[in-house]
Amino acid sequence: AAMRYLPYFCRGEVVKGFGRGSKELGIPTANFSEQVVESFPSDLSSGVYCGWACVGNGDVHKMVLSIGWNPFYKNIKKSVETHIIHTFKDDFYGEILSIVITGYIRSEKNFSSSEALISAIQEDIEEAKRQLDLPEHLKLKEDNFFHLPEGKTVSH
Ligand code: ADP
Ligand code: MG
Repeated sequence: AAMRYLPYFCRGEVVKGFGRGSKELGIPTANFSEQVVESFPSDLSSGVYCGWACVGNGDVHKMVLSIGWNPFYKNIKKSVETHIIHTFKDDFYGEILSIVITGYIRSEKNFSSSEALISAIQEDIEEAKRQLDLPEHLKLKEDNFFHLPEGKTVSH
């Protein structure tokens, strides 16, 4: 079930990932904590999604998101990782990431090389940009979810 839960709203702290070198591949992914990951519906399909993301009370940007299984933990630990389609000056570990997942792109796949993985992700990013320009997706960029009341802190 990929579409049934969409749009899906989620907010949580950005934690250290598993150091699989996403940043070295040019595609950093902001990881949610285990607690946030466990709050996802267990039958929300693993795979690649698109949507909107905002760090703290910053601007809302397009994003691609992967919901997957972590080989490091023998595939028993799910991870939810957001690549924001924006260039940030600094890392933002410890900050609150707010996302709304608006569309599904593809199921989880294995790749034989890092080149194949990178080119698949580049295609996902292009597909995300296209989907997110459609009115049903665009309207969620303006959702009140992204406008936190001044001075209010959020924790998950
Ligand atoms: P980790 O394994 O710790 O998740 P990554 O190589 O995936 O490391 O890098 C993720 C970190 O990079 C994020 O937690 C965030 O602080 C930073 N970062 C910088 N730019 C972005 C971006 N455009 N999208 C996501 N994370 C970014
Ligand atoms: Mg990561």
